[in-house]
Amino acid sequence: MENVTKKKVVVIGAGIAGLSAGIYALKAGYDVEIYEKNKIPGGECMGWNRKGYHIDNCIHWLTGTDPKTKLWEVWKTVGAIDENTQYADVDKFYSSRVEGKEATLWNDLERTQKELIELSPEDEEEITKFIRHVEYAKECVIPSDKPLDMMGMRDYIKMGMEMPDMPKVMKEYGKINCGDLAKRFKSPALRKLMSDYLPAEYTAYSFLVSYATMASGNGNIPLEGSLAMSLRIVKRFKEMGGILHNGVSVKRIVVDGKKATGIELEDGTVISADEVISAVDTDFLFGRLIEKKYMPKLLMKAYENRKAYPVTSGFQFAFAIDSDFSATDTIFFDCEPLQIGTRSFSRMSVKSYAYDKSFAPEGKTVLQANIVQSDEDYLYWESLSEDEYRKKKEESSEEVTKRIVREFPELEGKIELLDCWTPLTYNRYCNSYHGSYMGFVTTVGNKQMRFKGVVKGISNLYVAGQWVMSPGGLPIAVVSGKFAVQRILKKEKRSIEI
Ligand SMILES: Cc1cc2nc3c(=O)[nH]c(=O)nc-3n(C[C@H](O)[C@H](O)[C@H](O)COP(=O)(O)OP(=O)(O)OC[C@H]3O[C@@H](n4cnc5c(N)ncnc54)[C@H](O)[C@@H]3O)c2cc1C
Repeated sequence: MENVTKKKVVVIGAGIAGLSAGIYALKAGYDVEIYEKNKIPGGECMGWNRKGYHIDNCIHWLTGTDPKTKLWEVWKTVGAIDENTQYADVDKFYSSRVEGKEATLWNDLERTQKELIELSPEDEEEITKFIRHVEYAKECVIPSDKPLDMMGMRDYIKMGMEMPDMPKVMKEYGKINCGDLAKRFKSPALRKLMSDYLPAEYTAYSFLVSYATMASGNGNIPLEGSLAMSLRIVKRFKEMGGILHNGVSVKRIVVDGKKATGIELEDGTVISADEVISAVDTDFLFGRLIEKKYMPKLLMKAYENRKAYPVTSGFQFAFAIDSDFSATDTIFFDCEPLQIGTRSFSRMSVKSYAYDKSFAPEGKTVLQANIVQSDEDYLYWESLSEDEYRKKKEESSEEVTKRIVREFPELEGKIELLDCWTPLTYNRYCNSYHGSYMGFVTTVGNKQMRFKGVVKGISNLYVAGQWVMSPGGLPIAVVSGKFAVQRILKKEKRSIEI
């Protein structure tokens, strides 16, 4: 055990990244305080109750549930999951319905291949190639030991050996987007299947990796949902001696010369710190908590170029279903066009949460619907007055309900709206840029967003959170917290093995 004088690390934000940073900083022997603006920690890994139902609003898949992976160890360290965690019994990624035909991406790749070929024999060659590459993509791992820039030649060789077939996936699907991938298929149902889940501009390989994560058993859904997982991490943090201040918003980081001396809270209180880790949205950090001039160049370029680095959010609805509506899981379908701002949507999805009995009273189910939202949609929502905003939500809820009942007539008289929320909700709740709940989308021909979680010009300020590396999501959030602490350790010339 190294002899450490206790330094104080202050973390801003108690999302998954901030909580992870807090736990790893405690492990490294520091005193840690986290300041979180919301009363409930967890950030975007959240859920809430309505009328006796629980609306789970994050985990569709948790990368790192395979105990053989290094990422699993990180999740275990922060108390999110362990050997006894129970997972949802879900056997498919999702289905797409077109003109009465339904295509499904099962976790069982052989079954998927067989069914898709039966559905569209003329696409056999493309289907076989797709499935083969999803199989290869199962190898894809998220570096969880240490940040990429701290890796040596030996680490890179080892990582390459763990993923020998990934270059084939990148070669075949790294230079096209999901829209292009869809066009490779002749069947309308398969075209939709390939482009329903991720927006068309996403690189196709991201889609293959997502499906492979589910298919490999490394992307399970922990029972009891997202908020329960966040609260398990909070429990671990507190048990280790960490102090969490909920409902306390940070106004700015106090910078003196080239050092952050602490943080100032909204009420003017100043908290001193030896090291500061920001785990809030980077758009909020650079511009609100510290001056924008500190923003790394690539990040600046990404914010300025909305076409090359789009973000996504959702216009979402949760319903109480007065039956055990378990047959659907996640399904996409055509609908009568729905106008939202400047865009018209003629496709939507519903997801049944019947897999988790703790979310609804017995014999009932929570169903959620999502209309994927873009930067442009965010600006539309932002332009509305309070009254217009409320009215649009109400009208859309009725319209969406009608469309669901049209597609699933068995729900007539059994469906009741629980809640509805927009990209603005995420911005209000988490200060998230354009309401995005993932990082920047990597589009074809543009550099993947990845920056060292350090701030040039401020020697003791570190950045964690999903924005440090695309595509963001929970795994990037959790490892970025660990990496921020490893950077402090490296600066102090201590071992980064933690
Ligand atoms: C509907 C939905 C589905 C998703 N599905 C998945 C999925 O299936 N798999 C997956 O991997 N990921 C998924 N995600 C993404 C995942 O939730 C996020 O990537 C992750 O939670 C981001 O964590 P973070 O800590 O980086 O940021 P955040 O969760 O945004 O945390 C930042 C925290 O900082 C706080 N904060 C902000 N400003 C201040 C301030 N001034 N003072 C104090 N605190 C502040 C915020 O309140 C927040 O708690 C989903 C997200 C949503 C919303």
